[in-house]
Amino acid sequence: KAKEDGRNTYRFYHNSMGKQGLRLLMIQTELREAISKNQLFIQYQPQLDLKTGKLIGVEALLRWNHPKEGLISPAEFIPAAESNGMIIPISNWLLQEVCKQAMQWKQQGVANLVVAVNCSAVQFRQGDLVAEVRQALESSGLPAHELELELTESMLLQDSERVMKIMAQLKTLGIKFSIDDFGTGYSNMAYLKRFAVDKLKIDQSFVKGIANNPNDKAIVQSIIALAHSFNLKAIAEGVEDCASASILSANQCDEAQGYLYSKPLYATEFLQWFNGYN
Ligand code: C2E
Ligand code: MG
Ligand code: MG
Ligand code: MG
Repeated sequence: KAKEDGRNTYRFYHNSMGKQGLRLLMIQTELREAISKNQLFIQYQPQLDLKTGKLIGVEALLRWNHPKEGLISPAEFIPAAESNGMIIPISNWLLQEVCKQAMQWKQQGVANLVVAVNCSAVQFRQGDLVAEVRQALESSGLPAHELELELTESMLLQDSERVMKIMAQLKTLGIKFSIDDFGTGYSNMAYLKRFAVDKLKIDQSFVKGIANNPNDKAIVQSIIALAHSFNLKAIAEGVEDCASASILSANQCDEAQGYLYSKPLYATEFLQWFNGYN
């Protein structure tokens, strides 16, 4: 847009917005075409049961391979996509892809796998999340209980009546829910009893310090206890070493995800990892 308006306008953007603003503008503009140009793809990170060591699920993580910039992190482009509404078509595309992929793995012999998909607050405000989920399940044939939606604490607390209604409809279908980055948001846990959540994902920042920082360890222990007292599972994110894994295990943490087990993988790599792992 800036270029169409001529050189002066371009300079205006440059001077007033700075490099960061320009990059945001580039991301917002070019993200519109990223789906149709096949620049978006999905990686999958294994999640394991800490008691049995068995694979229990994968988290789907969105990637953008930009032709000039290379790989752009979702931490950077998801907020941009949320601010211009692009998150809706992108999330709908991802939901379809993930369900298709999970169904394909199921047919290739990967049993009892739950695929977890990150959700944005915008999906609860705009669009029709229930219809999109139902459609993705129907067209892929994936059973609803093999799909998990990851929410964040802040999503449950903004506009919570509306969110609760949508969650109840999805729950009726059989969808699972987890709370991502748990412990970083609101520490008021009263809301846990009002939402149909299945799992708490302990934020990486606490997991990172578990072996050396007594405060982090105390926080992780309380989140596990909290999860269990509500009959929920606890999963630790960002597990990078054996020492942390054994502390988590000794503290009854149910599941783990992190570089210790596997980095996020391309779909084909995941099948190889699975065949080698089992
Ligand atoms: P998240 O959902 O909390 O995802 C976990 C992030 O930690 C991922 O980063 C993952 O690659 C990284 N990670 C996993 N294991 C380890 C580890 O052992 N050590 C370290 N240092 N990092 C680890 P990623 O893929 O860059 O995603 C960042 C965030 O972007 C996600 O955080 C999520 O909030 C958002 N995101 C990713 N995909 C989607 C999506 O499809 N939709 C939405 N709405 N958000 C997404
Ligand atoms: Mg997540
Ligand atoms: Mg997380
Ligand atoms: Mg996060």
